[in-house]
Amino acid sequence: MIYPEKSDRSISLTDLQGVGPKLVEKLNALGISQVTDLLFHLPMRYEDRTRIHPIGSCIPGQSVLIEGRVEHSAIVRGRRSMLVVVLSDGTGRIILRFFHFRIYQKQQLSTGTHLRCFGEVRPGYQGLEIIHPTYQRLNDYAQEPVADRLTPVYPSSEGLGQKNWIKMTDQALALLRKGKLELEELLPASLLDELQLQPLAEALDYIHRPPPDADVAALIQRDHRTQKRLALEELLAHNLSMQKLHRLQRARRAPEMQLQGAAETGFMKGLPFKLTGAQERVAREIREDLKQGRPMLRLVHGDVGSGKTVIAALAALRAVDNGFQTAITAPTELLAEQHFRVFSSWLEPLGIKPVWLSGKVIGKSRSEALRRISTGAELVIGTHALMQKGVEFSRLGLVIVDEQHRFGVGQRMNLLEKSGKHDKQAHQLIMTATPIPRTLAMTAYAGMDVSVIDELPPGRKPVKTVVMSNERRGEIIQRIANACAGNQQAYWVCTLIEESDVIEAEAAEDVARNLQNSLGDLNIGMIHGRLKPSEKQQIMDRFKSGEIHLLVSTTVIEVGVDVPNASLMIIENAERLGLAQLHQLRGRVGRGSVHSSCVLMYNPPLGGLAKQRLEIMRQTSDGFQIAEKDLELRGPGEVLGTRQTGMLLFRVADLARDAGLLKMIPAVADRLQRHHPERADKLIRRWIGDASRFAGV
Ligand code: ADP
Ligand code: MG
Repeated sequence: MIYPEKSDRSISLTDLQGVGPKLVEKLNALGISQVTDLLFHLPMRYEDRTRIHPIGSCIPGQSVLIEGRVEHSAIVRGRRSMLVVVLSDGTGRIILRFFHFRIYQKQQLSTGTHLRCFGEVRPGYQGLEIIHPTYQRLNDYAQEPVADRLTPVYPSSEGLGQKNWIKMTDQALALLRKGKLELEELLPASLLDELQLQPLAEALDYIHRPPPDADVAALIQRDHRTQKRLALEELLAHNLSMQKLHRLQRARRAPEMQLQGAAETGFMKGLPFKLTGAQERVAREIREDLKQGRPMLRLVHGDVGSGKTVIAALAALRAVDNGFQTAITAPTELLAEQHFRVFSSWLEPLGIKPVWLSGKVIGKSRSEALRRISTGAELVIGTHALMQKGVEFSRLGLVIVDEQHRFGVGQRMNLLEKSGKHDKQAHQLIMTATPIPRTLAMTAYAGMDVSVIDELPPGRKPVKTVVMSNERRGEIIQRIANACAGNQQAYWVCTLIEESDVIEAEAAEDVARNLQNSLGDLNIGMIHGRLKPSEKQQIMDRFKSGEIHLLVSTTVIEVGVDVPNASLMIIENAERLGLAQLHQLRGRVGRGSVHSSCVLMYNPPLGGLAKQRLEIMRQTSDGFQIAEKDLELRGPGEVLGTRQTGMLLFRVADLARDAGLLKMIPAVADRLQRHHPERADKLIRRWIGDASRFAGV
């Protein structure tokens, strides 16, 4: 059934029991400003507190509800004191261990107390144990009822406990059941019928409070029927908002850049190579866009090494010749610096001096950079620092974003808002090396034009790829010695799972030290994210000049680094990386005149899936094929490199799991747009919330 739509304007968050202004503030920070928003704040997992497990049958790794009598409790003093409680129910014993505790807890948990506990069972020194269980003291433990629904666990923020969430969502769900909340069904009835989807209110009720027999595995994977229902809405909302955003932008005026002037002509003359056919075509498409008085919205796909930088330069020079500024941004400091250097070397002979801006540019240099940007410097290159407050352009006419998928749409929009003293909207050029499967592109870049550079510059040699166990490290090191003896250079990439610059840097230092021990004759350099830009640059310069033979690095060299004499790439723990990332890394070699190779080193034993993935790398160097396979095997979060970085962060949807839904999205979006345009806006507001301001909703 569909619940009647009534206004919930009369019921505000503070009307809920236990919700005061302090809590509202915290909720607002999470994007929750009304009671219905609470319902779209979905559990991230569930705990089964509906059954009491006999302690004797607990298995490590399980999260269980148990009940028993305290046999013994003591504060054990050591380097750190802890409270240790032994609980027994007649079927077995388990240890409850508290590293953080208050003295009164020793009293609470004294011998003879009846307890009900919940927590994850793990193996300990003295048998099974639970660390920091949640617990409840029972007066008469046989009588206390257990939960009749699975207990949701909500994503939360500091100072907002699970009890708060449960209490708030309990109330919101009760209002929903009574039909007191406005929760409009936004999917057309015909579609619900066709796909046999349940009404929104029912789906939400189920997801927040699943019955004990629910398929928890599916729920946790977000693969449950009820979640699919929401995923469809969410994907639809993203598609609609991107389309709307781009439609609104296209409706604006943009600078007409008709003139081919001295800068562009001079640059073409000085270029040491001929553009490939594909580059010519894409450059032409961009020129045509820039001539129109409407904003360009173009995505350029081009595999690693296909020559996107020249394309960007041509576009930038067209803007320069027509009296407009260009901003070029890249997602990492290293890549942005590379661009800065390449552009400086290309353009300084033409009398154009690019401005450099990153978060690390501070003090006097920063104010000087900001001054130049606001007084019309032709070309500004930098990291996301360009998108931040305080950066004002005077006549921004073109925004170029390299490796866009690392940035959120919001960041691109922030940059556009800085256009300056003309009332027009800057053109946008987005360049990406990740060939994005079509279904994905339709969601991520809905409403953009796409150009493809489907040809590599002549003379590129395929990189021979081998997969080797790290037990054969000795052989691999010998290979480096041989390559460098033949005047070649090599990369050694260390990869870690930890997202920590410090740990990565330490690991790279260890590896460099060990390699130096075995390769005493070679100059080994090291580069990682903890170095200052000037230090990084110095090392890159020394590598480029050939002084450093072997460059040990973290994945910071993933994109953009260009040293043609390097012909050997060793990637450690290759099985941990996404294929797109491996492809990027491998793309650092094979740029010079000799045959290059890439060694994918793994830590045995190699699982079946990992083996398959590395095998793909061995078989093909076609970025598009690799991306398709990666999508198949791992999921698009990885393909797009966005899982950690925020763009396309979905609440329910998962692009890999919901690939089936993805296919139907454009058609459904179209249908909705045509027949229920007002619902499109509501969907955007519901799912994208604050970010929807960019779509003018
Ligand atoms: P990507 O598309 O990965 O950004 P780059 O723009 O960095 O590729 O180009 C890779 C290398 O190829 C650079 O050294 C660049 O100067 C060179 N290059 C680009 N276009 C051509 C071309 N048409 N002919 C020969 N070399 C080219
Ligand atoms: Mg590039």
